[in-house]
Amino acid sequence: MDTDVYPRPVSQIASWDLEADVVIAGYGIAGVAAAVEAASAGADVLVLERTGGWGGAAAMAGGFIYLGGGTPLQKACGFDDSVDNMAAFLNVAMGPGADADRVGDYCAGSVEHFDWLVRCGVPFKPEFWGEPGWEPPGDQGLMFTGGENAYPFNTIAEPAPRGHIPQMANKKAGEASAGYMLMKPLVETAAAAGVRAVYDVHASALAVESDGRVAGLVARQYGKPIAIRARRGVVLAAGSFAYNDAMMAQFAPRLLGRPGASIEQHDGQAIRMAQALGADLAHMDATEVAFLVDPQQTVRGILVNGRGQRYVPEDMYSGRIGQLTLYHQDDTAYLIIDGDAQEEAMAATSPTPFLKRPATWVCESVAELESEIGLPAGVLQDTVRVYNDNAARGEDPLLHKKPEWLKPIGTPVGAIDLRASCAGFTLGGLQTTLDSEVLHVSGAPIPGLYAAGRCTAGVAAWGYASGISLGDGSFYGRRAGRAAAKN
Ligand SMILES: Cc1cc2nc3c(=O)[nH]c(=O)nc-3n(C[C@H](O)[C@H](O)[C@H](O)COP(=O)(O)OP(=O)(O)OC[C@H]3O[C@@H](n4cnc5c(N)ncnc54)[C@H](O)[C@@H]3O)c2cc1C
Repeated sequence: MDTDVYPRPVSQIASWDLEADVVIAGYGIAGVAAAVEAASAGADVLVLERTGGWGGAAAMAGGFIYLGGGTPLQKACGFDDSVDNMAAFLNVAMGPGADADRVGDYCAGSVEHFDWLVRCGVPFKPEFWGEPGWEPPGDQGLMFTGGENAYPFNTIAEPAPRGHIPQMANKKAGEASAGYMLMKPLVETAAAAGVRAVYDVHASALAVESDGRVAGLVARQYGKPIAIRARRGVVLAAGSFAYNDAMMAQFAPRLLGRPGASIEQHDGQAIRMAQALGADLAHMDATEVAFLVDPQQTVRGILVNGRGQRYVPEDMYSGRIGQLTLYHQDDTAYLIIDGDAQEEAMAATSPTPFLKRPATWVCESVAELESEIGLPAGVLQDTVRVYNDNAARGEDPLLHKKPEWLKPIGTPVGAIDLRASCAGFTLGGLQTTLDSEVLHVSGAPIPGLYAAGRCTAGVAAWGYASGISLGDGSFYGRRAGRAAAKN
């Protein structure tokens, strides 16, 4: 039993060790966005960070920020987009249960949010990268990151790339990731606005007035208990529960034991301390799922499931392929790829060469290959025959892979075993209003408590697009900071 999370009555706190108008737990993307906006609104702001420095998962991230609706970067790269077009895509791509009001709100504020990032000093290079990949190979600033140009999304909204990437300093030498290039100017902006930060502070529970209002936090610093008073509000910005095995087993068991694009500090503590006060939760089973193979390979082959059947257009966003594989195909996939295509994929430019996989089996015929894989006789042969007949005509009537990637599969033919090739992070968490107030199970906001980032349920429900996390974390982090400062 973890009694650490129980709310602490203010009457039991003998003295406060630290004090500010707005106290923020976590100095990653949501925390820094909240800090900048709360300080700009005139509040005295203190950030508590559990590790020895700012950054969190955000500073290690690929740095995509999902923005659109006609940002200056989209325009500079020659793409048209609108708020309605972006919302039409996100309302479908973020999955069943996506909150249309939140999606609409996020899309409507997207251009202003991009401008704010630029004002805070985040650099973007107006160059588009159009090849399949998890990220661009250089410091290009814009990419498709959600399958906008793949079926079925390309029939739902006009495809527009929305993955905005801060320009990296000397990416080749690995000096600074795009996530770092996002975080650094934001932290500098916060510091210039007077935000204070204390490190090695592990927030564990909320301090609460007798009327239920959140008045601060209790925490441990170097093992010593401390209490921090928040005169106007507390903002929880401490990340997801991807590293909390008990919560994963309870809410998102398919990803248990395979956290990805996350850090071990994402242990669900913020969610649990708010739950202990009666906070409501949403989308706890929703996850991002990375499919750990280079998209330059996926696009040149066909993906089949444990029954030897295709189930996704292979030019789809890899995160969606991951979700469809993990949740709908029992985490079983084989990439069928012929010798020429494999050679071409191995030679193709990619920022993730470590994800390029050798073939697990190579055979002279599809019949032999299906037997090597252990598939029932005939199923893979039928799949390849149908695919090849259509590909020869430049068509894919089954799954609508784009004609530019359709090429009949020849011999020798190989298969890459992609079973158990998924990893990811959680997207569910505290239920909040559009002003980032944490909602009680009664439906009313908990006075004095705000939250943003991956400890909340954000824009994504079941679906995902790369950049949504840094996107909604920074967007609703700003809202949290502003709302808390207003009290
Ligand atoms: C390698 C990698 C690549 C990624 N690429 C992308 C990408 O391109 N685009 C995208 O949108 N997302 C990406 N992500 C995911 C994204 O970085 C996170 O989902 C996002 O940073 C979540 O924001 P946050 O503010 O909730 O958490 P964070 O940015 O992790 O910040 C949370 C902070 O809270 C601190 N903390 C935790 N517990 C406590 C506590 N009890 N008390 C005090 N402090 C605490 C943590 O130490 C951390 O500093 C990537 C992640 C990784 C690791």
